[in-house]
Amino acid sequence: MLNGMSVDVEEWFQVGAFERVIAKDDWNDLESRVERNTGEVLDLFAAAGVTATFFTLGWVAERHPALIRRIVGAGHEIASHGWDHRRVFTMTPAEFRADLARSRAALEDAGGVPVTGYRAPSFSIDARTPWAHEILAEESYAYSSSIAPVRHDHYGWREAPRYAFRPVVYAHLIEVPVTVAEIAGRRQATGGGFFRLLPAALTDLAVHQVNRDGQPAMFYFHPWEIDPDQPRVANAPLRSRMRHYSRLGAMAGKLRGLLGRHEWGRVDEAVAALAHLPPPRQRPGPSHDGSPEPDAGPDYRNSAGPRPSPGKAREASVA
Ligand SMILES: [Zn+2]
Repeated sequence: MLNGMSVDVEEWFQVGAFERVIAKDDWNDLESRVERNTGEVLDLFAAAGVTATFFTLGWVAERHPALIRRIVGAGHEIASHGWDHRRVFTMTPAEFRADLARSRAALEDAGGVPVTGYRAPSFSIDARTPWAHEILAEESYAYSSSIAPVRHDHYGWREAPRYAFRPVVYAHLIEVPVTVAEIAGRRQATGGGFFRLLPAALTDLAVHQVNRDGQPAMFYFHPWEIDPDQPRVANAPLRSRMRHYSRLGAMAGKLRGLLGRHEWGRVDEAVAALAHLPPPRQRPGPSHDGSPEPDAGPDYRNSAGPRPSPGKAREASVA
């Protein structure tokens, strides 16, 4: 079973944990380590013979186009992580559409290949953003991996489906939530900091669980997580510092083990293998006022049709 391996490409200072103590205006003055750290990630993947998807900020692509070319040249997929890590639920629908366009343009300019995948910063598509998937469908994204189906203090949508589903019933867009383990009926997050801080056996368990259900796992981590020498942000809250800086030195070795224990690949390839997902539903006839409908996805805000809900989404998923 081909599982999705992904890297959220951002600088050490572009994480949600530091947003209250590091202003965006100061980003250009801080030490850039993304090229060096992502280079190490590329070496890890090359040694393991694994290709992956790099969900990259447009902000990073604009400043490091050579890095984007290097990722593409090594056979990996470039996908969007938005422009500058603004979480989706803090944007209006129009702002979200503009953020997507700006990021995609920077990534495609740098990489020279089309971008068809998206991951929301901090998994910020949830019950507050019922319009987000519709916009991704309208902008012709093939897939999104923007939901953490678990409850967490900073993010998460506990009621969301655990497995791949079509979030807009008339569109081809597929949402592949990040993998969580299920232990005694409770969901446990596994990627990123959870992989770094908790035993790797927990992630192995999650991968085995979802593969047993015929589903691909979706794993993620960040380049800064393998960088023990990154600058320290002294005035961040203690809890944020504990999470951000713990076990950075052990991460590369832990990843090497994980890469060897399961089958991993690019997310677009793992999504293409989801051939058993039911096709999008046929759109009903012309709308009530006779005006033509947009190509991708109904506009639930202005129609009498059903709003997508977690319950609806679950129907469309294949468990
Ligand atoms: Zn991120």
